[in-house]
Amino acid sequence: MIQIYNTLSKKKEEFIPLEEGKVRMYVCGPTVYNFIHIGNARPMIVFDTVRRYLEHKGYEVNFVSNFTDVDDKIIKKANEEGVSAEEISQRYIEECKRDMKGMNICPATAHPLATQEIGGMIDMISDLIEKEYAYAVNGTVYFRTRRFEEYGKLSHKNLDDLQAGNRSLLVSGEEEKEDPLDFVLWKPKKEGEPSWPSPWGDGRPGWHIECSVMSRKYLGEQIDIHGGGEDLIFPHHENEIAQSEACSKKVFARYWMHNAFLNIDNRKMSKSLGNFFTVREISERYDLQILRFFMLNAHYRSPLNFSAELMEASRNALERIQTAVDNLKYTAEHAAVTELLSEEEAILKEAENFAQKFDESMDDDFNTADAIAAVFDLVKYANTHVGEGSSRTLAERMCERIQSLCRILGIITEKKQELLDSDIEALIEERKAARKAKDFARADEIRDLLLQKGILLEDTREGVKWKRV
Ligand code: AMP
Ligand code: ZN
Repeated sequence: MIQIYNTLSKKKEEFIPLEEGKVRMYVCGPTVYNFIHIGNARPMIVFDTVRRYLEHKGYEVNFVSNFTDVDDKIIKKANEEGVSAEEISQRYIEECKRDMKGMNICPATAHPLATQEIGGMIDMISDLIEKEYAYAVNGTVYFRTRRFEEYGKLSHKNLDDLQAGNRSLLVSGEEEKEDPLDFVLWKPKKEGEPSWPSPWGDGRPGWHIECSVMSRKYLGEQIDIHGGGEDLIFPHHENEIAQSEACSKKVFARYWMHNAFLNIDNRKMSKSLGNFFTVREISERYDLQILRFFMLNAHYRSPLNFSAELMEASRNALERIQTAVDNLKYTAEHAAVTELLSEEEAILKEAENFAQKFDESMDDDFNTADAIAAVFDLVKYANTHVGEGSSRTLAERMCERIQSLCRILGIITEKKQELLDSDIEALIEERKAARKAKDFARADEIRDLLLQKGILLEDTREGVKWKRV
């Protein structure tokens, strides 16, 4: 039985999907105006692991995650570079997908883009107006928050408290709202911004409506799991609930899951403070498997502090698993006997207990930290019980046991041969020395070797430059 902590009830609840054997899951994706940072990577890794575990349990998971490709930040970046907003979003969607691949995150069943779903958003907004949950003023459409009686049920906020806090925050130009709590569904066009025609004039959608529309289109009116970082609880997810449930009169999402934040130096990581790393930067120093492993070593609802020390500890820990797998493969290849020996049956049986402990941890609100501890117990057990004199079958089955648990976490157990920046620099130096010594064969060999690993060298007047291709 899987238990999920539901932000809605603030309790762990037994997971029962709407349709037997199937899971409909929606996770809010990034706004694509730059490379994703390692904070954005946390929900990606967490919910990919949730998905993998549900699949391991036999569920068919329909996993939808959007890209927000129309937003003020994208428009700002486009204006700075003198290119279109579409060029910016397309560029960073591709880069994001590259980072996701590096972190071994499975592509979603669908990755819808906000700009491709404008028609659906106009339909939902029109429906909300018809049902008197929304109203248009001077080209802007607002959601009539107080009409949705359950507003605040996810963030456990009280409307009157919100109102008190909001009064001083009223932004100029918003006096036209019926109530300060009302939020924007559609905003009118501004010069130099992308816009679409609508019954309320040219303009673009607000942020919240896209997720209500996309989840309904790709998953239906009701879904099982909705996920995202905890900063999205309010107002984004609260507003999604209001929009979706006002339309359908049905419960929108049954389980709301939120990951805690990734901090740096125990401070919130944010672009404005400048204390963040992009996934791309991290990939230049570490195999991204290490980043994934690091994130899964904490429970997803605990804040996690990023540090070089913890990344080094993750590197060592991951290497211990990889070395055990390598050793088991070696033992299997060199074993004198093939068939399982009678005394080895008990060893395999014991190994199943670790796998069971793994599942129990994951059943308990996806406790990946405890699940990893179970993998280490299994590794330790394999290291002491499999070796010289073991049968090939035992070594192979133990190896597969470790690997199958790691696969559920999305952890790759093969040692990766990818070159890090420091390795590349060292090879470039060696090539320079070889050329100086007129050893052109070795110099060419190094160039080819690097190319095979996806590193292109360029001899320029300022010296050798390289890039990953
Ligand atoms: P954004 O592009 O800001 O909409 O963020 C995309 C996703 O990343 C959302 O689910 C955010 O909650 C999440 N997120 C952003 N920053 C962090 C962070 N420092 N730690 C964890 N999750 C984050
Ligand atoms: Zn969303």
